[in-house]
Amino acid sequence: MKSRGLAALRASEKLTRFEFDRRDLQAHDVAIDIAFAGICHSDIHQAREEWGPALFPMVPGHEIAGTVTAIGSAVTKFSIGDSIGVGVFIDSCRTCASCLAGLQQYCETGMTGTYNTLERDGTTVAFGGYSNNFVINEDYAVHIPSNLPLSGVAPLLCAGITLYSPLKTWRAGPGMRVGVMGLGGLGHMGVKFAHAMGAEVTVFSHSPEKEADALAMGANHFVMTKDPLSLKPLRKAFDLILNTVSADIDINLYLEMLKLDGTLVVIGLPGKPYAVNVGALLDGRRRIAGSMIGGIPEIQEMLDFCGAHSIVSDVEVINADYVNTAYERTVASDVKYRFVIDATTF
Ligand code: NAP
Ligand code: ZN
Ligand code: ZN
Repeated sequence: MKSRGLAALRASEKLTRFEFDRRDLQAHDVAIDIAFAGICHSDIHQAREEWGPALFPMVPGHEIAGTVTAIGSAVTKFSIGDSIGVGVFIDSCRTCASCLAGLQQYCETGMTGTYNTLERDGTTVAFGGYSNNFVINEDYAVHIPSNLPLSGVAPLLCAGITLYSPLKTWRAGPGMRVGVMGLGGLGHMGVKFAHAMGAEVTVFSHSPEKEADALAMGANHFVMTKDPLSLKPLRKAFDLILNTVSADIDINLYLEMLKLDGTLVVIGLPGKPYAVNVGALLDGRRRIAGSMIGGIPEIQEMLDFCGAHSIVSDVEVINADYVNTAYERTVASDVKYRFVIDATTF
């Protein structure tokens, strides 16, 4: 299948228009006409090789929302015309304990990413969602509720599930104090979900101009982090803190804010190790944990939750030619709150 999109040809270069082929439809595949593709900060980390050597040419994009245009002969999960979503992985081993539990993101042999990797045949380059179409095995795609706009849904496929999953794992709900570090693409979804689940939500941000938006999204409190003194009164105040910051920061300030048995979940992946003050862990039996996206059943659950609560991402819809500017603005924390590419402009 012929595809048009955008690719990074090398880590040091801007994304450029790119034409390529996708595999022909196999029995369990569906073909997708992409409507919108979100820009995740992970796209930028990878296109710039901030996580180590990458595979070029790279077509980034793992927040994909579109419509099914064709189905393979054995497909049962989707019909032509269905709204469909694809996230951060397109395949996994299907047989390990994680895969059998529906936690494909933690596949023991490694999930197959949506781009910047080879497919499981070991030879086909996986090209991502910054393009006009897509082909995927039906088991690795999800249904989009009909009441939600596809532009606001696209970011749910990564940013949404990545915050929904830890909030469910650590049982966010009424009576719980949840902190969200960084009001970006991920963080703003964390605020919306934690609020919808009934938790008391505090945003930690280094961008004072985001306060009104944070409160409108459901945050109860907004704390400016540029002045470390503002964090002092919040010592031992939180049950759960979700760190979505994409940059290298001092997480020890936030450990101090956890209550007894509180957990700091690391979600942002700046590419550099964090230094941890072990004393802050010992005091209060605090924990540091990690969390990575979510599996197919949980992505579907998250989308159904969004349908029921009318939750979507706040997006700035852009044309393909704006992507390099959008990358710069994302790195500068200047996006409200996710860039989404209109795929008709590829
Ligand atoms: P984003 O939209 O750029 O948001 C990151 C936010 O971090 C910014 O909006 C900003 O929030 C804050 N920030 C940025 N630079 C900062 C600095 N120098 N000091 C303090 N705060 C800073 O990025 P994203 O797409 O949400 O992704 C966030 C991170 O999560 C990335 O590292 C990404 O790779 C990672 N990620 C992880 C997973 C996973 O499964 N664990 C999935 C997707 C992405 P304020 O302006 O409010 O301060
Ligand atoms: Zn992502
Ligand atoms: Zn597996």
